[in-house]
Amino acid sequence: MQIDQTRFRLKPDQFFPAEQKKDLIVLHFTAGTTASGAHATWITPVNGRQQRVATAYVVDLDGTVYEFFPPSDWAYHLGMKTGNPGWIQDKRSIGIEIVNPGPLKAVGDALHWYPQNFGVEWCKKTDAKKYVAANYRGYDFYAAFPEAQQEAVRELVAQLADRFSIPKLLPPEKKRTAFDPGFFQQFQGIASHQNLRADKVDIGPAWDWAALAARLQRS
Ligand SMILES: [Zn+2]
Repeated sequence: MQIDQTRFRLKPDQFFPAEQKKDLIVLHFTAGTTASGAHATWITPVNGRQQRVATAYVVDLDGTVYEFFPPSDWAYHLGMKTGNPGWIQDKRSIGIEIVNPGPLKAVGDALHWYPQNFGVEWCKKTDAKKYVAANYRGYDFYAAFPEAQQEAVRELVAQLADRFSIPKLLPPEKKRTAFDPGFFQQFQGIASHQNLRADKVDIGPAWDWAALAARLQRS
């Protein structure tokens, strides 16, 4: 698959250029609508310091895959306050951010996303391809992932699992939506941010785990 390794490449002080043993892939969504937005946030210093917050990959709405830094290296991407001594969970995992606005709120005949306190329209309720209606952690609607984008993520996950010998294993079905640090601190395979943080809603109910499982069984 085509991977763009130049457009949003981070500088060495914007991640940790140090190879790690990888046994986990963590899926995120950006809670935004562009890869460039994630890039702009990550390269902006706070109090004059680079934050080194990023994921190795960002997959855009059209399925374009951007490599921000080598997947063998690491950056902060989990933000765990406990159960992460020496940032071991960030180090052992490869983060993939999927461009997606995330949770939506119903406002009249429309669904709105985050900015300005859910003041920005994402789609009309009649545009069924653009969202999924499912309650998860306090929200009733989530933005859909376009098929081309999901296909690109599946391909990327399969390739990374091969390259780093990461088990092609999804969490058991009843654990996929759960915050269960005891389980996921040991889990090797493909998980998502919501498994490691109670206050996160990514990857959310719009993600198609069954299609990812089918792709991983094939390879
Ligand atoms: Zn996340």
